[in-house]
Amino acid sequence: MGFAVSIDGRVGSPEEVTLKVTDNGFVFGDSAYETLRTYGGRPFELDRHLRRLRRSIALLGFELQTSDDEIKARIDACLSFASNDESYLRVIVSRGVGDMSYRFERIPEPTIAMYVKPLEPNNEALYEKGASAVIVSIRRNPVEALNPAMKASNLLNNALATREAYAKGAFEAILLNTRGEVAEGAGSNVFIVKGGRLLTPPLSCGLLAGITRELVLEIAAATGVPFEERVLSADDLKTADELFITSTLKELLPMVTLDGVQIGSGAPGPVTKALLSAYRARI
Ligand code: PMP
Repeated sequence: MGFAVSIDGRVGSPEEVTLKVTDNGFVFGDSAYETLRTYGGRPFELDRHLRRLRRSIALLGFELQTSDDEIKARIDACLSFASNDESYLRVIVSRGVGDMSYRFERIPEPTIAMYVKPLEPNNEALYEKGASAVIVSIRRNPVEALNPAMKASNLLNNALATREAYAKGAFEAILLNTRGEVAEGAGSNVFIVKGGRLLTPPLSCGLLAGITRELVLEIAAATGVPFEERVLSADDLKTADELFITSTLKELLPMVTLDGVQIGSGAPGPVTKALLSAYRARI
C-alpha cells in the first residue's frame, strides 16, 4: 500500500480522503503538527509527541476534545492501512473548516489529519562522514511574533531558510534569532561539544523543544556527559570540537563543516558517536 491518509477518522488513500479547501490549516497555516517515525512498525515516543501537540494547540488558542486513546487508534488504523515496514507519520490538527475569513467563531471543531508514507532510510554514509551546514541570512521567527516553541504548520520561515541552505549546497540551515544568537536548524536542534562539554541553546533563544534534543540531554545525564544549556554564537559553533543536529527523522547527525569552515577534526567526533549509539540503543 505505502501511503495512507486519515481525516477525522476516515482512512484511505490520499486520492480518496481529502481536505476541504476552506480548512484554516490550508488557508492560514493555522494548525499544529507532529512528525514521527516508526521503529519496528511502532511510532517512536508517541506520548511525548502527543503532549507537545497539545502544547502547540494551546499556544494557537483552540481546544482539542479528542482523547489521546482515540488519536492513537486513528494512528494505528492509518499505519495498518499503509502497511509499511517503517513509516513516516505526520499528525496535523487544524483549527478546523472555516469560510476564508478571520471569523473563528464560525469554525465548529478542529480537523485531525494524518499522513503516512514509507520511511526513506537515512543515508548511513552521512553519519560516518558527517554533513555540512550553513548559517542562513534568514533569522528565526522571534518568540514575540510566531513563537518557535509551537510546532505550527506555518513553515515559511523554515522553508525559505532551507531553500537558502540548499542553494549553497548545504544539508541543513542553521538560523540565528533576531539577537544574533544561535536558535536552531530549519528542521532540527543544534548541539556542540567544546572541551568535553555538551552545549545547546536554551529554549529562551527561541526554538522548538525537540523531542530528540530532550532525549539526548537525558542520555547525557544518564551516561555522565557534562552538559549545559547555553547561549551560543555562530563563532562558538565554528570553533567547536564537534557539531551535530538532532531530529526525529535525522536522529543525531554530525556536521563537519559550517559555512565551509571545518569543525574539529573534520570527521564525526567521539562524543557525537557515543551519544548516537546510546540513542540507537535506547530505540
Ligand atoms: N526544530 C525544528 C524547527 C523542527 O522542525 C524540528 C523537527 N521536528 C526539530 C527542531 C527537532 O524536533 P524533534 O526532535 O522533536 O523531531
